[in-house]
Amino acid sequence: TKFIQQLPKIELHAHLNGCIRESTLASLASERNVKLSSLLHDLQQETHFTEEEKMNESPQEKVNKKRRSLLECFEIFTEIGLCVTDLVALKQICIEALEDFAKQGVVYLELRSTPKVLLDTMYGTKATKKDYIDTILKCMADFEEQDQERYKREMEDVKQNANASSQSLPRLPMTCRYIVSINRAESFEVAQEHTQLAMEYAKKSKYVVGLDLSGSPLKNSFTELEPCFRMAKDAGLKTSIHCGEIPCEKGVDNETDDALIEFSYRDTKKILDFEPDRLGHALLFTDEMYEALERGKKIPIECCPTSNVMTLELATHYEGDLVHGLRRHPRLSKWLENDYPCSINTDDPGIFNTDSSLEFLLLVDAFGFQNPARIVSIVMDSIDHAFESDDFKAKMTGLVTSKINGIL
Ligand code: 5GP
Repeated sequence: TKFIQQLPKIELHAHLNGCIRESTLASLASERNVKLSSLLHDLQQETHFTEEEKMNESPQEKVNKKRRSLLECFEIFTEIGLCVTDLVALKQICIEALEDFAKQGVVYLELRSTPKVLLDTMYGTKATKKDYIDTILKCMADFEEQDQERYKREMEDVKQNANASSQSLPRLPMTCRYIVSINRAESFEVAQEHTQLAMEYAKKSKYVVGLDLSGSPLKNSFTELEPCFRMAKDAGLKTSIHCGEIPCEKGVDNETDDALIEFSYRDTKKILDFEPDRLGHALLFTDEMYEALERGKKIPIECCPTSNVMTLELATHYEGDLVHGLRRHPRLSKWLENDYPCSINTDDPGIFNTDSSLEFLLLVDAFGFQNPARIVSIVMDSIDHAFESDDFKAKMTGLVTSKINGIL
């Protein structure tokens, strides 16, 4: 457990608004007179744990305290949108998200978010999508600078203390990057606008590295949005696309109707043919789709264990705990065994009440890894999938390797 906490981690799939702390959501809601749905939130319950409490409790015990299905999550995102209505609130949730990831030992973070026009009726302010992006990038730049300074200071202290062990080396500083999201529920024109923004910012800022497709999988199809992703790809931007959140074949559940299954099948095929740089979730594919990926393209997959279990529960009405739920993941155990390229991520840590360390603990509990080398290899592999240059990845690999050698 201590090893996992200290382990440097790579987070490639996290949605900014999904990182909101429950306490921050509650206070923003009360300032804005937004009534949060009591069915979706359990605000009376103490959900913040000390580090010691977290470590003494198994991940499923902790996270099970608040279960949320994928559809409930989308309702919560609507509520979050009613609360994050100005740049001050945006800055707050962004800084807190960066702090929370760094605290869990994340050394490289790709945070994604859908640019929004913020119209605040309380303060009467208006912020454009460019203001939205600028605010996130400024938070990232400031955070990196402070974190680098902290690291240097702590290293100096270690050097002066002749008795310091390699175990007490300071936490590595965190590098932050931003992926522009397209929300499936929005129009083609908006998707085009976000593609242009991603391309424009990628030219002038090292922080903007890619384009993502997320949002309700019930809305729109990739076919319509493909030109945007092709344009981004041609311009040298990396792409990540959510997929496999709805069954692509009959028999997975009794609820998804045939038309939706057919839609999901065709949509997923299109996404796979497009060959994005990474796939988000890739959970409910057909065997034939999985086999084609495993034999051929091996597109790296962003796995989000807790979030994936919630989706599986929705699909199968499985009422077990997270550990058992994760064992029902159609492919994860096989991927890990055969070194299929995948990373372990949080998706929406504020909503699923999880963090980067808990996701790895869940993985260990579900698949019984005894050898730390198994976990280390996932981290090293994830560096390779980062939307960054080979040079950057080589440096990051060196840094992470020396830190891991220190804690092993
Ligand atoms: P934001 O882009 O507003 O910063 O982050 C929240 C948004 O991310 C949600 O409104 C939704 O569009 C997207 N999102 C978060 N989690 C998921 C997920 O598990 N699946 C999909 N498809 N989209 C998600």
